[in-house]
Amino acid sequence: MVGIVIVSHSQKLAEGVQALVHQMVQGAVSLALAAGIDDPENPFGTDVMQVYQAIESVYSEDGVLILMDLGSAVLSAEMALEFLPEERRHPVRLCEAPLVEGAIAAAVTAAFGANIEQVIREARGALAAKASQLSGINPSESVGALVSTPTSAQSQVIHLTVRNQMGLHARPAAKFVATASQFQSEITLQNITSSSGSVNAKSINQVVTLVIRQGNEIAIAASGADAQAALAALQQLVEDNFGESVADVRGAETPLPEQPQFPISNSQFSGIPASAGIAIGNIAIYQPTVLNVQQQQADNPEAEWQQLQTAIEQTRHQIQTLRHQISATAGKAQAAIFDAHLLCLEDPFVIDRTRQLIFDRNFSAAAAWKTVIDETVAAYEALPDSYLQARAADVFDVGQRVMRSLTGTVPASINLPEPGILVATDLTPSETAQLDPGKVLGICTVAGGATSHSGILARSLGIPAVVGVGAELLRLENGTLIAFDGETGEVWVQPDDNQLRELQAKRNRQQTQQQALQSAAQQPAITHDGHQIKVMANILTIQEAKIAVNTGAEGVGLLRSEFLYFDRVSVPTEEEQREAYEAIASILSPHPLIIRTLDIGGDKPLPYLDLPPEANPFLGWRGIRYLLDSPDLLKTQLRAILRASHKHPIKVMFPMVASVREIRAAKEILAAAKTELRSLGMSFDEAMEVGIMVEVPAAVTMADKLAAEVDFFSIGTNDLSQYVMASDRTNPKVATLADAFEPAVLRMIQQTVTAAHHAGIWVGVCGELASSELATPILVGLGVDEFSMNSPAISTVKAAISKLRMDEAEAIASAVLQLDSAKEVREYIVGQLKT
Ligand code: PEP
Ligand code: MG
Repeated sequence: MVGIVIVSHSQKLAEGVQALVHQMVQGAVSLALAAGIDDPENPFGTDVMQVYQAIESVYSEDGVLILMDLGSAVLSAEMALEFLPEERRHPVRLCEAPLVEGAIAAAVTAAFGANIEQVIREARGALAAKASQLSGINPSESVGALVSTPTSAQSQVIHLTVRNQMGLHARPAAKFVATASQFQSEITLQNITSSSGSVNAKSINQVVTLVIRQGNEIAIAASGADAQAALAALQQLVEDNFGESVADVRGAETPLPEQPQFPISNSQFSGIPASAGIAIGNIAIYQPTVLNVQQQQADNPEAEWQQLQTAIEQTRHQIQTLRHQISATAGKAQAAIFDAHLLCLEDPFVIDRTRQLIFDRNFSAAAAWKTVIDETVAAYEALPDSYLQARAADVFDVGQRVMRSLTGTVPASINLPEPGILVATDLTPSETAQLDPGKVLGICTVAGGATSHSGILARSLGIPAVVGVGAELLRLENGTLIAFDGETGEVWVQPDDNQLRELQAKRNRQQTQQQALQSAAQQPAITHDGHQIKVMANILTIQEAKIAVNTGAEGVGLLRSEFLYFDRVSVPTEEEQREAYEAIASILSPHPLIIRTLDIGGDKPLPYLDLPPEANPFLGWRGIRYLLDSPDLLKTQLRAILRASHKHPIKVMFPMVASVREIRAAKEILAAAKTELRSLGMSFDEAMEVGIMVEVPAAVTMADKLAAEVDFFSIGTNDLSQYVMASDRTNPKVATLADAFEPAVLRMIQQTVTAAHHAGIWVGVCGELASSELATPILVGLGVDEFSMNSPAISTVKAAISKLRMDEAEAIASAVLQLDSAKEVREYIVGQLKT
């Protein structure tokens, strides 16, 4: 990254410029000062050696830009250059740009990785915005000249208006940054409405701090080989409202009315209502482990840097696992909170600044990381917007994870020994996500706001919460009885009998309503004309099995067993697996459990299995391909599944099957596992059903042959869509093509169902399509026998099924198969639902 040196007669002036720059780029640029002289009587002046040392301190091969105030400052800078060895002189450039405007423009440009020429050009153009504004030109025509590339000849710029309700809050910002990061081009973003400077569109922290709200005009500039594609993808994202419906945003993040926080009396407090519901119980005070940096400085920067990389990698893995869990328990929208955490972890500003502290100032990895996270948290907290201030908790959360990994600290357990109310100063989203709703009757915190991600997660876990109660809360003793109303924010300490009676009555009313909803979802899904469809859940963990049952799942149609293999250093043993499968099956009893064998590769790597990086991981060594090449691993899993089938209705299915040969080979290993168990006298279900995921087009075209080999099919529309449409589901440039509503994909489903039924076997759909209410009439009409989905979608899909008649659904299905695009299919269904 290009470094910057400020040469000034006045130390104070230079420090002021430095502070302004810091505000713009949060320290993400290497900037050094050479200002004033060491003479208390007359501190104004410049010193050649100081300039030389400043250059050395920010020097890199990318170059150094020197900005000077006047007179001898220029002379000192020129002479300092003479001290540099010949070969280091070339990338160091003196620039005549105005000191304040030039420094800001240069810093922002340098911070997103621009080269020295671009940095100089932006610094030189730094007066353009001021000049045009003072000469009466509309600032939106010239804004961007201040700090960014939009005015440069190579840049392409688009102007858009942000329409979604909350503007570029954390989740849309995360999507924006994730999309921008897929492209090589330099991309900047500017809030035209607030006349902000341009920021790096690949930095989550920078993008969020632009405070882009609903109705704001933004400018996106891109320069590079794929600039056009980048702008098209970003434009589509903005025009699609970042994939949010107004309802999504309201449900998840609309701030609840904030209430004043103060102790009303010694026995009553008032806080911010964050998650509705009455909680009554004894409190358990949670104190997180304090993370101290033992060693500030280190001798071996390379080793520290490597240590940080490892910690970041471990953290990435933890967050991805948590993201998958939350996606299954609370839904995709809530899980996207952790997308923002992943982006925060990769933020180029955070990484570059940490690197700089490690290499230039010999900070230890932990000290450097903590410094940068503290700065970033402080920058969020200083923003003039309570919603954005709340994002500081997310940065802090990610920062803590990395710190724990660096310092080898085990997080304090927040598992309550018995049901009670969790009291804490604040809870991070990660901490909240891991709470057991069976044990945590309520959450009451000193700090936090209704828009915190912890609040959102508490709502989706169904745990009542009041936050922002104030420090008085921590004066209570562990075990004190409290009660609170998550709808009003009132908290009672040792409530008297009358208060308890009232609260219990309100709680009973709420529970009755809740139970009515749940019991509707517990009913089977039957169409108007009496056709029953099984509705099952996709799960990952034991915890989610409980949620599935409560939300009306009639079993589990897809257990993604890879989650037993994550977050550990070696393959789980047969015994560990058997226990986990039995535990899940017991919770579901008497409903069935379909266990999918390990599906790794593609987007699901496993660190300890040492899978080599592949050019096309989705076309690579994944699913059954990997399993067949690792027969012992597969056999161990199959033995565990078989043993669990002894007492429970369990079925097994294999992922990514593309040929008859593969399923036959897998069945041979299953037969070998059975023989071994028999010889050991171990019992299992001899007739355990065997199925395959139909998620590769080859499996569809060979469905008649494959159906002869197995007892059932389960269509994985997530993978099937990407393979049918030849578009990587993780590549935003083409991901929209991988749409399961495409008639091409729907025709594949039709072919699969026809072949399955012809062979006399049943067929389910376990891809995301099954959870879409819009897809329900199509799938019912195509004759799908079983739907399996994320638990939160079950009640909606069951309700949608019960409104259908079979002949109507069949007519809808055959009509959509004749349409031209996914868009037309959706429009058609929406039209049908209206009539
Ligand atoms: C699918 O591909 O549709 C599927 C359910 O499997 P996964 O998303 O786990 O690849
Ligand atoms: Mg799949």
